[in-house]
Amino acid sequence: TPPPAPANMLESREEDPALRPKHMKEMIGQRSVYERIRVAVDAAMMRGEPLGHILLDGPPGLGKTTFATCIPRDLGVELQIASGAALAAPKDLLPYLTNAQEGSVLFIDEIHRLPKAVEEFMYPAMEDFRIDITLGEGVNARTVNMNLRPFTMIGATTRTGLLSAPLRDRFQIREHLEFYTDEELTTIVLRNAAILKCPVEEAAARKIAGCSRGTPRVVNNRLRWVRDFATSRADGEVTLEVAEKALAMSGVDSLGLDRQDRSYLETILRVFNGGPAGVDAIAHTLNTAPDTLTDEVEPFLLREGLVVRTSRGRKITNRGYEHLGETPPEAPAG
Ligand code: ADP
Repeated sequence: TPPPAPANMLESREEDPALRPKHMKEMIGQRSVYERIRVAVDAAMMRGEPLGHILLDGPPGLGKTTFATCIPRDLGVELQIASGAALAAPKDLLPYLTNAQEGSVLFIDEIHRLPKAVEEFMYPAMEDFRIDITLGEGVNARTVNMNLRPFTMIGATTRTGLLSAPLRDRFQIREHLEFYTDEELTTIVLRNAAILKCPVEEAAARKIAGCSRGTPRVVNNRLRWVRDFATSRADGEVTLEVAEKALAMSGVDSLGLDRQDRSYLETILRVFNGGPAGVDAIAHTLNTAPDTLTDEVEPFLLREGLVVRTSRGRKITNRGYEHLGETPPEAPAG
């Protein structure tokens, strides 16, 4: 019998390092972002200067960390990784700044989570490669000025709107990552199926891509699930039929929505009569964090036009009603 598919299995599996592109040229999609970063990277290498600071924003799983790990590898420099959520005070950031080698990259994920004090401590570090450290307390306190080796900061955030303007302005390059096309995701499925030595029919690859919410991380998770299913329930080959059965079993629907997406839509529809409903109220009903909804669930549903954001909250659209098999209330009489 195949392994059971618990509610969040598809999203919660460990990321497979083998599937993450190592160099920028292996990355698929995001062409205009890729080209602009490529120009900056090439120029920095040719001039032997540190690359300017880069800010990447966009929904989870679209390649922010992948860019941040490929860029230093392409540049041949060291990479340090920190998370905004873990940097509670300037002293937590200090070792990263003083360890940074000339031209190396410091990647800060979830940079919108940095407390104000850490953010302000970072301004001179980013601008002039200099930090001001206060030693001692009270009347004995004095500020010591310390020079850093020039480095590159790469920041990632799910929403640039959450960043203060002074921080945002200190990044020379600011790029927004968009959802991937089905075409691009199909290419990723075929590339990764080859890495996993898993035979996949082209039609099956397109099916998996079309069910992956425009997101490479989701495409990889779905591919791994379909591959397990093919091993356990078929002869290992991912045919269209195998892919369809596997996806249906895990609760993924025709638009690629999973159970969490559908409970979000169902909640607005049934608990809030189609909305408008505040995101906090929806999150409370679903017993999840509002941030999870705004950062992970909503971006794709908004893009697909299944919900809209109004000044009074989220509302389900006619398309949303239809996707859930319901008749929209204001449907023109036919
Ligand atoms: P984020 O940091 O935006 O949440 P990641 O960079 O961790 O997203 O991407 C999630 C996974 O998706 C990666 O491990 C990688 O395998 C895959 N991926 C992301 N972007 C690409 C891309 N452009 N081409 C191929 N695979 C990608």
